[in-house]
Amino acid sequence: MPNRLWETTGRDVDRLDLSIMFLPVGAMERHGRHLPLGTDTYTALYIAEKVAEKVGGVVLPPIWYGVCMGMRGHRGTFDIGQEPFAHYVRDVLVEAWRNGAKLVVIVNGHGGNTQALHYAAKEAALHTDLAVVVVDWWRDLGAEVRTRLFEKPGHAGEDETSAMLAIDENLVDMSSAESYEPHRPPLRVYSKKMDADLYRYALTGDASRASREKGEEWLEAIVLELAEKLHRVAETLNIFIHH
Ligand SMILES: [Zn+2]
Repeated sequence: MPNRLWETTGRDVDRLDLSIMFLPVGAMERHGRHLPLGTDTYTALYIAEKVAEKVGGVVLPPIWYGVCMGMRGHRGTFDIGQEPFAHYVRDVLVEAWRNGAKLVVIVNGHGGNTQALHYAAKEAALHTDLAVVVVDWWRDLGAEVRTRLFEKPGHAGEDETSAMLAIDENLVDMSSAESYEPHRPPLRVYSKKMDADLYRYALTGDASRASREKGEEWLEAIVLELAEKLHRVAETLNIFIHH
């Protein structure tokens, strides 16, 4: 197990190498009827810990609340405004740097957070010497495996449900796993009306096709790819990480 900073004592933190930190970021958001509301945080935390195990570094406490405009209409969704969220994350990054971080790897599990996270990362990098990586794990990594394994991916769909099954199948209710293929607009449209159509069931794709085995294969590829890419980033930045 990598070092979870929130479980580290004051005595131990003084001896820890804090140059690389992982920040998992998720959301409290409805994911169909079958996945836990904290899915995006569980997946981000899982990947952050697996990668930290491989390359070293400590894991920061996950951020459980995110920017969730699309799924606002569903009970169980908590939507944090883009600006306070971005400022909060920026301050976490600056504090990570003040505590000795040279590189923070943000492992993001939720699409609504992406723009705010990039803004926060740019702000922190501008005002400190910190380097920040922002990765949307499900779309920036493991793309080849995702295409091969999943025919009906989507929000809470075959892919995300498989990932959650691999992480903790006790948190998934497969008897409620459904399928929904919404009409997708041909451009990115910001609209409450379109969100209501697109996320009528807080689900896109076919969750019933999910399996733990597929989730395991996908997550393994993602962890390996991120570890390998971080080695290259660290080399460029002249930061030592485990091989
Ligand atoms: Zn999700």
